[in-house]
Amino acid sequence: MFFSQIIGQEKAKHLFESVVRRKRVPHAYLFTGIAGIGKTSAAKAFTMTLNCDTPSGLDGCGVCPSCRKILNGNFPDFITLEPDGQKIKIEQIRALNRSLGYAPFSGGYRVVVIHKAEVMTVEAANSFLKTLEEPPPGNIFVLNAAEPRDLLPTIVSRCQRVSFRPLKIEEIVAQLTKETQLDVPSAQILARAADGSLGLALRMSGSDYLERRKGWIGKIFRLYGCSGAEALNMAVESAKEDRAGLDQPGSVKAGLFDMLSVWASFYRDLLLVRTDTADRFLINEDFRDQLKKAASGLSFQSLLESFQTVDRAVRDLHRMRNPTLVLENALLNLQKMGGGQGGHGRAPLTDEWS
Ligand SMILES: [Zn+2]
Repeated sequence: MFFSQIIGQEKAKHLFESVVRRKRVPHAYLFTGIAGIGKTSAAKAFTMTLNCDTPSGLDGCGVCPSCRKILNGNFPDFITLEPDGQKIKIEQIRALNRSLGYAPFSGGYRVVVIHKAEVMTVEAANSFLKTLEEPPPGNIFVLNAAEPRDLLPTIVSRCQRVSFRPLKIEEIVAQLTKETQLDVPSAQILARAADGSLGLALRMSGSDYLERRKGWIGKIFRLYGCSGAEALNMAVESAKEDRAGLDQPGSVKAGLFDMLSVWASFYRDLLLVRTDTADRFLINEDFRDQLKKAASGLSFQSLLESFQTVDRAVRDLHRMRNPTLVLENALLNLQKMGGGQGGHGRAPLTDEWS
């Protein structure tokens, strides 16, 4: 993994350049930004540069013993820590501290990456703070956090902050068409839906997302012409989606949260169309004509409330509420807001979904 392979992130690369040039390496970093934009890759690339015999510029040479081990994934001084369930627990930090008692095996730098550092329990954070205050020599800590505001300020103040930005749609499209078999229109659909995360777009491309997405959008179009009873049936059927979806690294199947994210993007698009905001911001650009037709028959208020209904369903599901109940509530609300009450409703929003 080389810095030169990381897409974008020029600001972060500049910062590492100056660290390497000055040969004064801060021992703790806070990498901020959403998942899937190169934070872990940068931590690996940095490990390579720091431990390389003959680095050239910011990149490791790729052929010396430590570079080769890092590329092969068996470098002993690159350690990652992930939440155990929802949290990073005190036992995990204690185990980490014990392993830091030994000097780095390679004789160079050991890099410890803590994923989702913001979900440390209070006890874990306080214990880790002590480690940061008196770091054992040769260790470098990289805290990855999408929500740095949830970290202890005393931890944040001891870290060099490096911000990673979401990638542009064009950057993701370019990478998708290079790394996968996708055609440009499909790559564009994924790039828009991935919200700046190349990692998510790549997972989508290797999954059933594109096929499933059409069906999910079709459901929402159909919802407006159907009765309350049909909306409830649709809810029961939709609740069968897998709970674990593409938000799980390595997943090849889209699931419940991916469906809700598509529905949220659908209402967001309808709001944009309704308020005549520039078309180029549409996420579901390939449904542009149907969206326009649909938006003309719906009030701004009902679209806003529909968007909020989907958003609330996502939050309820994260709180581990029963998916069937959450979806029944959400779809019945959405059906009513579309004016399809009690079966005497209107025709489906577009003919092709009826
Ligand atoms: Zn090297």
